[in-house]
Amino acid sequence: MRCLRCKNEDTRFFYNDQGIWYCRKCIAFGRVNVGDCVQPAILSKTKWRGDIKLQYPLTPHQKMCSELVIQYLKQGKSVFLYAATGAGKTEVSMGSIAYYLHQGKKVCFAISRRQVVLEIRDRLQEAFEDLDVIAVTQGYTEITDGDIIVCTTHQLYRYPQSFDLLILDEVDAFPYANDPLLKEIAKNSCKGEILLLSATPDLESLKAIQEKRMEMVNLFERPHKHPLIVPKIVHLPKIFQVVYILIFCLEMKKKEKQVLVFVPKKQDTYWLSSLFQLFIPCAGIHSSSEDKDSILDAFRKKKLYVLFSTTLLERGITIPSVQVLVYEAEHSVFTTASLIQIFGRIGRSFQDPTGIGVCLCQSTSPSINECISQIQAMNDTVYCATKE
Ligand SMILES: [Zn+2]
Repeated sequence: MRCLRCKNEDTRFFYNDQGIWYCRKCIAFGRVNVGDCVQPAILSKTKWRGDIKLQYPLTPHQKMCSELVIQYLKQGKSVFLYAATGAGKTEVSMGSIAYYLHQGKKVCFAISRRQVVLEIRDRLQEAFEDLDVIAVTQGYTEITDGDIIVCTTHQLYRYPQSFDLLILDEVDAFPYANDPLLKEIAKNSCKGEILLLSATPDLESLKAIQEKRMEMVNLFERPHKHPLIVPKIVHLPKIFQVVYILIFCLEMKKKEKQVLVFVPKKQDTYWLSSLFQLFIPCAGIHSSSEDKDSILDAFRKKKLYVLFSTTLLERGITIPSVQVLVYEAEHSVFTTASLIQIFGRIGRSFQDPTGIGVCLCQSTSPSINECISQIQAMNDTVYCATKE
């Protein structure tokens, strides 16, 4: 017995309902009986004749990457776009989207997290202004078809064998990264090519690249051409880490600069922000904070100098001129992928392309070392490429 949707063959997950076997492994996405093919979703198709509208033209490096990706996709190959944080992977992927739309093919852009779906939808709508770009995620599920579909990876179950191009963004992020079921559902939604976007390639993709089942394109140069910030490691006992953070933040305040402090646990955001409030305007934020939008808004408007955050803000947030500290950086929540994203918050703007990043820890973890060597390798690649 085999479920044709999630490819499950484990008999423990098959249940019998009045003589009909069905799969319980992917039941959260609706019932599929054993042997039943899931019918492709019925979606609109139009041949697009427009052009992409970008706020800034692609840099020569971005253009080269964009063309290389399209070239591989044309050959029917899937591509891994290995992109440094802030290098413009969304903009680079737009050329591929346009290429498929010009041929009347169907494109989907899928991401792990809901708030990023909404943000990407807006950016794609701006670039493809004459098209109907729709978001499909929790709270936005009434309309499920458009010229371009942007959805969470969870929603891909709605589209079996539907897309000619499936772009999977943040493949290194929770929950997609460690959920085989989501990966199977994603694979099943694509009948053409897959374009993966990530700042940290996973072992599975590296294997596929090695075995030539997938091509890799490196996009390491940020548009302002400044290297990524390599974090400094500072070894201190916890209590002195707090003192270090306080002194650092007060110094940055004198320079009118803001600091993002990443902490491992929700409760750290409470006690640290209450303590620091005695010295400097600050706040704490985590996934269940009720007023996330207003806290972020206050930070963006520089009403707060310091923001304590869990890994909630590791991705998708761009604050110009922000410095980044990680408290208890050896904690297991700070994986290599997470740390690369965290320090990728620094130096994203043309006005202030540099900054400081510090890993505060009692001892260096393998993730910290791996993060530093991956960032250095990305910088070295750009430097060598320019030299050639
Ligand atoms: Zn199944």
